[in-house]
Amino acid sequence: MAKCELGYLCEVCGAEVEDITQSDLYLRFVLGEVEARYLMTAKERHLRCNPVAAQFIVDPGFEPVLVEGPFDKRNQDPAEVARREARTTLAWRRLQEVRSLGIPISDYPLDRMEAADENQQQVLQSP
Ligand SMILES: [Zn+2]
Repeated sequence: MAKCELGYLCEVCGAEVEDITQSDLYLRFVLGEVEARYLMTAKERHLRCNPVAAQFIVDPGFEPVLVEGPFDKRNQDPAEVARREARTTLAWRRLQEVRSLGIPISDYPLDRMEAADENQQQVLQSP
């Protein structure tokens, strides 16, 4: 009970991760890197407390995160960086909107969204 009231604490800074829009765990879930069954037990972190991943979020609504050292995206292959930025930013934008969509958590991941779009197109294209 107390755990629910407290919400989930960030394993890096110790502060509460107030909602999923700032959750590194849920971002990775939307990216398809974490399975739904691990959401309740996996360690929670703020997006900003995982800068190596957060540096790939490129959006006017997200203050850029810089990483110093070997994981700095500026030291990595530009094509790979561009690919990760596109996918991570897409996932971040989805994370900002999913709760207002009123969809089940199982439909949060990007791959589910793409599959749903394809299904919809097939319906539209069928005579
Ligand atoms: Zn934190």
